[in-house]
Amino acid sequence: MKELLKRLVESPGVSGNENDIRNIMKKELEKSCDSVEVNRMGNVIAKKGKGKIKLMLVAHMDEVGLLVKHITEKGYLKFDPLGGIDQRSLLAQKVRVYSGNGQMVGVIGSKPIHIQEKEEQEQVIKMKKLFIDIGAKDRKDAEKMGIAPGTFAGLYREFSELANGMVTGNGLDNRAGCAALIELMKRVNPKNCTIYAVGSVQEEKGLIGARGATFQINPDVVVGVDTTIAGDMPEVDEADAPVKIGEGPVIPLLDGYAVVHPAAKKWLTETAEKNKIKYQFETTPGAGMDSSIAPVIRDGIPSTGLCVPTRYLHTGVEVLSLKDLETLVDFLEAAVKTVDRYF
Ligand SMILES: [Zn+2]
Repeated sequence: MKELLKRLVESPGVSGNENDIRNIMKKELEKSCDSVEVNRMGNVIAKKGKGKIKLMLVAHMDEVGLLVKHITEKGYLKFDPLGGIDQRSLLAQKVRVYSGNGQMVGVIGSKPIHIQEKEEQEQVIKMKKLFIDIGAKDRKDAEKMGIAPGTFAGLYREFSELANGMVTGNGLDNRAGCAALIELMKRVNPKNCTIYAVGSVQEEKGLIGARGATFQINPDVVVGVDTTIAGDMPEVDEADAPVKIGEGPVIPLLDGYAVVHPAAKKWLTETAEKNKIKYQFETTPGAGMDSSIAPVIRDGIPSTGLCVPTRYLHTGVEVLSLKDLETLVDFLEAAVKTVDRYF
């Protein structure tokens, strides 16, 4: 799965511009599934199985990014955020700009320390004040390179390995979920249910793609496969973020939208206990994921998440453990076998 994850991380895919990720997902899922379609909003929907119960597994294909809103006369690019990108992590970073003429490199520049006032050194620079330098001579020059308001940009993507099976890159949220779905669909061939594996668009903009896909599929249960906040780092209170890397996948009990459905919680916890799979619970009232919205679609569709603990979310240096990701696929594989007993 490491090679697949690397390929997914190093391909662009900010919210609203998921084309490259969609192509990988479509191609990979076509190898293992009965059918694969792309709906009007750009969600990939792959289907496999012969059972009556419909199980929808959804992983978002987009990552947080930037959208160019203005080119200054001197040729610098001003931008707005796409999703909840951490503005403190943007300063002095390399970015990729997806111009009409192809990918280019840019940098988010900053005033050198030598000429900063003392107070400036202690301040966070607001996103409004940041700009991308692509080396353009002026606005006309940038326009000639295919840059315009609406041009997408993303953090510079590079997948690297740390010690102990941990990996880093930007957009692990949620290329990890995409990789897990692709891997799972290779392994299963269910008779007790039909699985709909969905790669959704624009999750980071407010669960946009998942809403229509959930309505369209009308499943019996939805599982959001995503990353979640690991708090095992200095300066984080354990009570605020108790999840730890290496301790297995996470079942969110409560998020910014909903409380986990009791049948879904029972299904996943009993699966984990019976199969001796490590797992963790979390509550993060400020967060939300594609499955969180299912309870308010149609007459209400039961749902839960199953997440990979990930440090430094929504920055360019997200970190997760490949072991947790593999455990998550094992967990889903076991859960597929019994889903018809709970819904
Ligand atoms: Zn996510």
